[in-house]
This record gives sequence, structure tokens and C-alpha cells, in this order.
Amino acid sequence: MVVKVRIRGELLEYLLELSRDFYPNEFAGFLREKDGILEEVLIAPGGHFGPASAFFNTWLLPLDGEIKGTVHSHPDHVCQPSPQDLWFFSKFGGFHLIICYPYSPEDVRAYDSEGNPVEIEVVP
Ligand SMILES: [Zn+2]
Repeated sequence: MVVKVRIRGELLEYLLELSRDFYPNEFAGFLREKDGILEEVLIAPGGHFGPASAFFNTWLLPLDGEIKGTVHSHPDHVCQPSPQDLWFFSKFGGFHLIICYPYSPEDVRAYDSEGNPVEIEVVP
């Protein structure tokens, strides 16, 4: 079985926009799901944004059952999760999007909580 993450096209567009707006810094947020489709982003509260890393404070994770993943940008065009990212993914579960520079629709990668690549299905 192929694992897929489904995301609304409009949300994906918006995430690309946010990544460009935050450049050269990282942008980070949480993804909210409805009926199996990622529909909404909440920009991480208390996130630390800088050229080196977006630090998610796990104590600040919203207590929200519809949060099914995270998203953050990589301004350095490395689309692979960093060791810090993998550590965070494993704590959080769900799906994790990485959007790397130059932030075109082809620069979006999805990973599961173990850091395995996951296919992305864009839902119109
Ligand atoms: Zn990262």
C-alpha cells in the first residue's frame, strides 16, 4: 500500500506563498485536517525563526485533535529532513511537509513520523 498525504490545492499554494514571504528565514506551522485532507495551517506559536532552523517547542503544540502534521520551509534547497527534524517528527507523529527553496510546487516533500518519504496528492 502506498502511503499518501492529501492536501487541498489552495492550502499548498498558500504554504508556498508563506515560504517565499519568510525567505531567507524559515517558516513553520501546524497542519489541520478535515475528512482526511489537510485544509488549514496554523503558524507555529512561539516558533523561533532563523536562517539555521525553525525550532518547534513541543510544549507549545496546540491541543487540537485535528492537527495532523507540520510544515516548515528550508531556505537552503535541501529537501531532506535534518536530524533535528527527524527527532521532532518522531515525537509528533502524523505527516510533515518540507518546502525547500525556490518554493515551487515541485519543491514540496512529505514525510511520515519515521522520516520516510510519502506521496503527496493535491486535492482541487
Ligand atoms: Zn527542517
